[in-house]
Amino acid sequence: MSKALMIGAGGVASVVAHKCAQNHAVFSELTIASRTFEKADALRAKVTGGPMKVSAAAVDADDVDQLVALIEKEKPDIVIHVALPYQDLTIMDACLITRTDYLDTANYEPKDEAKFEYKWQWDYRERFKAAGVTAILGCGFDPGVTGVFSAYALKHEFDVIRQLDILDCNGGDHGYPFATNFNPEINIREVTAPGSYFEDGQFIETPPLAIKRRYAFEGVGERDMYLLHHEELESLAENLPGIERIRFFMTFGESYLMHLKALENVGMTSIEPIEFEGQQIIPLQFLKAVLPDPASLGPRTRGKTNIGCIFSGEKDGAAKHYRLYNICDHEAAYAEVGSQAVSYTTGVPAMIGASLVLTGEWKKPGVHNVEELDPDRFMDMLNTFGLPWIEDRDPALVP
Ligand code: NDP
Repeated sequence: MSKALMIGAGGVASVVAHKCAQNHAVFSELTIASRTFEKADALRAKVTGGPMKVSAAAVDADDVDQLVALIEKEKPDIVIHVALPYQDLTIMDACLITRTDYLDTANYEPKDEAKFEYKWQWDYRERFKAAGVTAILGCGFDPGVTGVFSAYALKHEFDVIRQLDILDCNGGDHGYPFATNFNPEINIREVTAPGSYFEDGQFIETPPLAIKRRYAFEGVGERDMYLLHHEELESLAENLPGIERIRFFMTFGESYLMHLKALENVGMTSIEPIEFEGQQIIPLQFLKAVLPDPASLGPRTRGKTNIGCIFSGEKDGAAKHYRLYNICDHEAAYAEVGSQAVSYTTGVPAMIGASLVLTGEWKKPGVHNVEELDPDRFMDMLNTFGLPWIEDRDPALVP
């Protein structure tokens, strides 16, 4: 019987709240806190009615004092951070001060620089360890399940993993010419940043969207996918002994890329402040305000996601390839929890990770990426809580 405090009330938060309610044997109480109280309260109303006790609160998670006051008032056993990556460090500070366990789904990003690095959060390792507090980083799908899949493959299928390709395919169609499936600001910063992959001990940078491949995704069909830098490359390069290459690919449709290019060409994706009618504005933040709210895509998105990992390496002296993936249906996700599959595939793992910290299996003072922890119970819970995984022992490889 434990209490969680969730920060954020967006698309991913909605899934986490519904899934905590389904797992009420562990989550007996949940407080939903977000910048806008009305949003937290609307989500509270949606998940009220079952055995889990739910309440709502307002908090500005950029403010450590407000966070500390809220944590001291609510006394949660864990803070589940599903607001934005900008708040990772303030929430970690508040968790350290109050000695409360912490979990997030995306690594810290400074607002004024699109940099995806674990450095800032890894700097907290010793302090969390000394305080006896557990922090779990990047516990969504990618990062998150991709790290759990890697730990599982290493534990059960390989002596050494030499190459890893992470493939993220969203075959969903929301009917808009251009929209993003999660927070537009974060999504566009990620996609317009230079790509990179890990090879022979170093990261090799590529121009944005410069490397393109095609892959046939079960449940979706053949799609073009592009090499991106993605945060789990950094932690997996450290945590998979003997790894020689890691790449991350994401699929994008023609319409998305055409609009993105046009928006980029006219300066709308920039994060440099500009002067507009006597005010400083950031073009990307203005763009976010005019784009569809990702939460509004839920009822109109059809199709499936297919996300997973292809591993190549050796077992008992023989070369081996192995793939683990999940297919998630946008309409089924929306019918169950009121969010589309991109939020669903992020929120379910966040709930599972938090549940494992609360039940003790993942309680380990320090700051950890998911692949450092035992994957077995997590893999079982993926099957129970709506993200069943599929094994392929003869996978098609990415050239
Ligand atoms: P949304 O934009 O839908 O929701 C973000 C929520 O955070 C909103 O409720 C927002 O409140 C709240 N928020 C923002 N700033 C603050 C603040 N200063 N204080 C308190 N609350 C705040 O985002 P998503 O739900 O789509 O994404 C949530 C997180 O999940 C992001 O960090 C994203 O990067 C991550 N993610 C991870 C994935 C993975 O696989 N690992 C995949 C997809 C997303 P308000 O509405 O009032 O602004």
